[in-house]
Amino acid sequence: EGYCSPSGPIESTHCLYETVESLNTQLFPALHELVTYPFFRHYKVDLYKECPFWYENGFCMNRNCGVEAADEDEIPEKWRAAALSAVSVSPSDAEGVSSCYFKEQDFCYVEDDADQNGQYVDLTLNPERFTGYAGDSAHNVWRAIYEENCFGLSEASLSEIGSGSGATSQKSTKAELASAVVGAGGVSRSEPSGGAQVPGWGFSKLSEGWGTEMVKSPMGGEGEMCEEKRVYYRVISGLHASISIHICHEYLDQTTGEWSPNLECFISRLATHPERLSNVYFNAVLLLRAVARAAPYLEAYDISTSPIGGVEKESDRLTKAKFGEVLKLAGGEEMGKGFDEGDFFTGEDAVILKEQFKTHFRNVSRIMDCVGCDKCRLWGKLQVSGIGTALKILFELDDKALDPKVNPDLLQRSEVVALINTLHRISESLASVESFRKIYASTQLEE
Ligand code: FAD
Repeated sequence: EGYCSPSGPIESTHCLYETVESLNTQLFPALHELVTYPFFRHYKVDLYKECPFWYENGFCMNRNCGVEAADEDEIPEKWRAAALSAVSVSPSDAEGVSSCYFKEQDFCYVEDDADQNGQYVDLTLNPERFTGYAGDSAHNVWRAIYEENCFGLSEASLSEIGSGSGATSQKSTKAELASAVVGAGGVSRSEPSGGAQVPGWGFSKLSEGWGTEMVKSPMGGEGEMCEEKRVYYRVISGLHASISIHICHEYLDQTTGEWSPNLECFISRLATHPERLSNVYFNAVLLLRAVARAAPYLEAYDISTSPIGGVEKESDRLTKAKFGEVLKLAGGEEMGKGFDEGDFFTGEDAVILKEQFKTHFRNVSRIMDCVGCDKCRLWGKLQVSGIGTALKILFELDDKALDPKVNPDLLQRSEVVALINTLHRISESLASVESFRKIYASTQLEE
């Protein structure tokens, strides 16, 4: 069968593996080219915010952790103008500014061209790969992120719901996090291996034992999970796994100084944990569905970097064509609906669960300020923002809101850039899995 009959919002992605892989053979090369064009490769981000949750001094001194800034001459005047015009808006006017209109619906803190403190980064100069960042600092961040997983009525007082800013729950989460992270003195995890032995980690194995990997949380426990909690967990675990795949695929052999795929790294971090791999596919399906849903809006998005009123640059013309190709692939017949957003946040507690989900995800974007390696922080922030944008498209915006004529300022440039680059990261991970399969097969032949 092509793709499955929807047996449930999560289970239905089981038989999508082949479909996603087949789509990825076209999607990855298209995305890989798209993200090199000026609109998509420039991202403004504030990398130097203080960690709001604990004292972080584990800064990575390794030069692989450094971030190269963009060439200022390549930044179009109109993006700078966004920052300048933001200065002239007084706080009391902010409500009326169109880009603030959907702030309530954001799943993460959005940084943008209008941000006064950020710096432009050229993403192509800063590939996501092995940096050497590891140990307590990295573990504390991952732990804190997994611990943002408490869902349920008991956690939410009604006064928190609808406050929008998440400020009330932010406070308690901050205190809880501080004691959980600082007090724990390291990472304690309870994590079944997922059952698979090393050989044969083809995708037939991926459907086994997924959802079984749980991270012990002093706040959440390990009991039955509602769908929303599972989605939260799978999104985070999928992001974590995707980052691990990039690390293993572009690994620095510190003795020879050479960058190359490290099969052992892939086997120990991913292949022996098939559910982690399945969560990467889950993220692919979620992001593809969001891009497909927003396709008419994205198609109409102004991706021009040419001077206003000037001649259109060749690179802009190529960007538009490639972007159109990506949107068509994401929304094509092949994928079907893949992920059905209509299956979530529908029960009695829907409003509360959605607010909690949003609060947790916003906290994750703040936890990113605690990542002690600039380059990891850059990609961490970008991908949390990309997933946050996808969640906003899927769970907050109806089709009318997604009409580019009704709502031209719905997504800020940084959200579009983050969404597409995150899809590219995940798509590249899937391509790397394929490459590891081949490497593994060749080692079997040699034996
Ligand atoms: P970690 O990956 O740190 O994992 C810790 C524990 O979490 C594991 O022991 C396991 O119990 C559990 N776990 C692991 N994967 C999963 C999963 N997918 N799902 C559920 N549980 C899981 N390093 C780089 O070299 N380059 C980068 O670009 C980079 N980016 C990073 C971005 C962020 C936001 C963070 C927090 C860290 C980043 N790191 C990066 C560090 C990297 O993720 C690892 O922490 C580091 O390589 C140490 O790996 P580890 O083997 O100790 O396990």
